[in-house]
Amino acid sequence: MIWIVIAVVIIIVVWTAPFSLLKYGRKNRSVTSYYGLMAVDRLDAMILMFDENDAFWYMNESARKIFHTEMMTRMEFWETWTRDEEEDEDTLILCRGNVIRYFKCDEQELRSKKGRLRGYMYILHEFTQERELQEKYRHSATHDSLTDLYNRDWFIEKAEEFMKQNPNEVYYIICSDIKQFKAFNEVFGVEAGDRLLKMIAEELRRNDDHNRVYGRVGDDSFAMCIPKKNFSDVAYLVKSSSVLRARSYNFPIANHIGIYEVTDLNLSVSAMMDRATLAIASIKGDIQQEIARYDDSMRKELLQEQEILTDLQTAFNEKEFVIYLQPQISHETKAIVGAETLVRWQHPKKGLIPPYLFIPVMENNGLISKLDMYVWEMACAQIRKWTDEGRNDISLSVNISPKDFYYLDLYKVIMDLVTKYDISPSRLRLEITESAFAIDLKKQVELVEKLQDAGFIVEMDDFGSAYSTLNTLKDIPVDVLKMDMKFMAKATDADRSANIIQMIVGMADKLRMDVIAEGVETKEQADFLGSVGCDIIQGYYYAKPMPVEEFEEMLKTYEYKDMTELVHHAVKES
Ligand code: C2E
Ligand code: CA
Ligand code: CA
Repeated sequence: MIWIVIAVVIIIVVWTAPFSLLKYGRKNRSVTSYYGLMAVDRLDAMILMFDENDAFWYMNESARKIFHTEMMTRMEFWETWTRDEEEDEDTLILCRGNVIRYFKCDEQELRSKKGRLRGYMYILHEFTQERELQEKYRHSATHDSLTDLYNRDWFIEKAEEFMKQNPNEVYYIICSDIKQFKAFNEVFGVEAGDRLLKMIAEELRRNDDHNRVYGRVGDDSFAMCIPKKNFSDVAYLVKSSSVLRARSYNFPIANHIGIYEVTDLNLSVSAMMDRATLAIASIKGDIQQEIARYDDSMRKELLQEQEILTDLQTAFNEKEFVIYLQPQISHETKAIVGAETLVRWQHPKKGLIPPYLFIPVMENNGLISKLDMYVWEMACAQIRKWTDEGRNDISLSVNISPKDFYYLDLYKVIMDLVTKYDISPSRLRLEITESAFAIDLKKQVELVEKLQDAGFIVEMDDFGSAYSTLNTLKDIPVDVLKMDMKFMAKATDADRSANIIQMIVGMADKLRMDVIAEGVETKEQADFLGSVGCDIIQGYYYAKPMPVEEFEEMLKTYEYKDMTELVHHAVKES
């Protein structure tokens, strides 16, 4: 629009002048003295004119601020400017030292009334400020404000462009995700969380070899597109995760990484990122593994998971969850000393579904606490029933998911249950895992002590599965250690494994804790455990988890020795 206005002003001035510029301009260089041209002179836009032989003819005040010589030719005028292919065709760039100015240029031929070419007129309008603003706006629309890395949309666009440049190359799309980031934010504050994100961004920048594209694509997730040949697992891992470990406030934090090898360039980058993210989800709780590669089975698993999620909606209403009990047996006397309550899903179409297929899904969407409360209630109801039948001695242990510590008022929920069913707290043993203490150790320890004061027996589940266990144990006041043989069996060296078991049992003894060995499958294992002073065994060697009725049958033939007595005995001896 502005061009049209300027052009119209100039053309009116030129053509309505009592003597024509075209006729007299060359002879009379003081044409600017003419009132019409005074107006042109004062225009903000630069106006320059050259005659038909490209010789200089006229420039206004604005133009004179830039072009000091009036002797330049039309060619020299052109040589002043830089052109950028990415810019519009009519954009001219003026570079003077560090200063870059942008102009829109409109070129017009000047013709006599008869149509003969008499010269050229250039109208230049500066738009440096608008452009800078535009640039700022574009930057903020394409970059993440915290880290100044590409944002999700821009990463997708740039990654696509990057891969298209060299379609014969094999690429990786890599996504990362900081575990426990939300919890970290809650404990240390958002500012600390922001610092962590900036640290990762810094690390990505430091390793930039200009042959990759990367960005921050979510709250705590980053993505990278990199040629496969340039990627080194170790380098990426060590650099991202060790930084976190080194400066992460003594908080168990890991940067999990999922890799999708691009096999189909037609897939959208966003779908490629979904696949890399899916690989991350497969890492689950394994603290040793921080990196996972996508394979197609993961997608099938996801579909299965979604199916489960849909069915879960009705499972509670239809009372499809049932409890199975796995006996805990004294290897020496063969007496049953208790049982662990393990949930099963009696699916109307799929049959009995084991917990590993639905518990992780429920842990991810917060449904786990609802399930746990349901299972605890079934366990309490069972204890009540047995008590009514005259068996006052039977205790059951129940699993408490680490999430329950955050989603529930655990003390109240559990106290309410034992009150409702009028059972002694010592009959309901509580299995917790070490990961429940990962955040706010002090608060969780207080909670455990409160539960113990109320008479509950607290057991540390899956002991030996993590690496920090020995260290944390001194801070966590549990009554029983459940030592998992499945983890022990992983140790390649049998002697070493035996040593560890011996050490754990010895240490538990010193700390006046009882030990239950679970996952015991062979007589050798059971005998060895007995020989080092661990007598209570839960495992397929004696019995698999079974329906309640079957357990009741078993009780009829086995002697029952109250587990709580053992624990209280140990505590009393102290
Ligand atoms: P867990 O608490 O460690 O339970 C022990 C698991 O080991 C059970 O698997 C049990 O069937 C299995 N097991 C017992 N003896 C042996 C053996 O000799 N060899 C082998 N290989 N395995 C044995 P299950 O019932 O499939 O439960 C798996 C996990 O699911 C449990 O591990 C627990 O973490 C979780 N889970 C089960 N029920 C519940 C529940 O009600 N709430 C919560 N939050 N988690 C539950
Ligand atoms: Ca357990
Ligand atoms: Ca266990």
